[in-house]
Amino acid sequence: MGNCSKCKEKAIFLNPNFCKKHFIDYFENKVKKTIKDYGLFSKKDKIAVACSGGKDSTTILFILKKSGFNVEALAINEGIDSYRNHTLVDLKKFCKENKVKLKVVSFKEEFGNTLDEMLKQRKNPCTVCGIFRRNLMNRYSKDYDKIVTGHNLDDEAQAVMMNLFTANVDLLDKSNPKSKKIKGFTQRIKPLYFCSEKEVAAYALLKGFEVGFTECPYVHKAFRHDVRSALNNFEEEHKGTKLNILKKHLKNISKIKTSSESIAYCSECGEPSRGKICKACKLLSEIQSFK
Ligand code: SF4
Repeated sequence: MGNCSKCKEKAIFLNPNFCKKHFIDYFENKVKKTIKDYGLFSKKDKIAVACSGGKDSTTILFILKKSGFNVEALAINEGIDSYRNHTLVDLKKFCKENKVKLKVVSFKEEFGNTLDEMLKQRKNPCTVCGIFRRNLMNRYSKDYDKIVTGHNLDDEAQAVMMNLFTANVDLLDKSNPKSKKIKGFTQRIKPLYFCSEKEVAAYALLKGFEVGFTECPYVHKAFRHDVRSALNNFEEEHKGTKLNILKKHLKNISKIKTSSESIAYCSECGEPSRGKICKACKLLSEIQSFK
């Protein structure tokens, strides 16, 4: 496997080649550099970390806590049988061990049904899941200055390509290390923006985090799944494809006109919305009308 590029130890990570110690230093410094370069937050900010119990959110929660930031964990239980219940067990244990306050909010309590139950009427799990999850994350992060998510470089490159494939220009400026400040929205922050999925997985394994690496059973139905496979193939043949997508995207995003600032407020729940009624309220009444 070759030696570490910083010392004579055997490399445990390739491209860049690092031993365990130097890989951990490299990874943590990369996250800290993103926080500094993009002015993501300061020690004064009260930060909610959107956690799932998976490798990405556990990793960023750990690094921020260790670095002395004021963090609490916020988890959404969508109600996905044989999946979310397991990841939440890992998350609860992690938060207890690392003295992080955790709040869990569920679809069942907030919307009356688990995601599995809702899918008896609706076919696209990720659309339903995404709309309700974003709604709860925003509603339950209002007491915080920022909300951090564990989106990594792979997730963000996929998001850029998905929005291009669907000509969804309005959503392009969401693929950013920090979202714009919009009244009613807690600012979203992504400190793992430049860390690849492979790097995050290696960090989580080396730190011994008890996180499951199994995926959501609905992942194969997602458009994202196909984009992810295509980008992984590109990356295999053309190293650096994903990072290049994000670099070009960040350069171009300021030139693209989006309507993200023309936000109204839902007449039903008061949450920010592009229309008179927000997507979550529309979807909820649609689901309830099937009963
Ligand atoms: Fe939700 Fe789809 Fe992700 Fe599963 S794969 S957690 S259904 S968005």
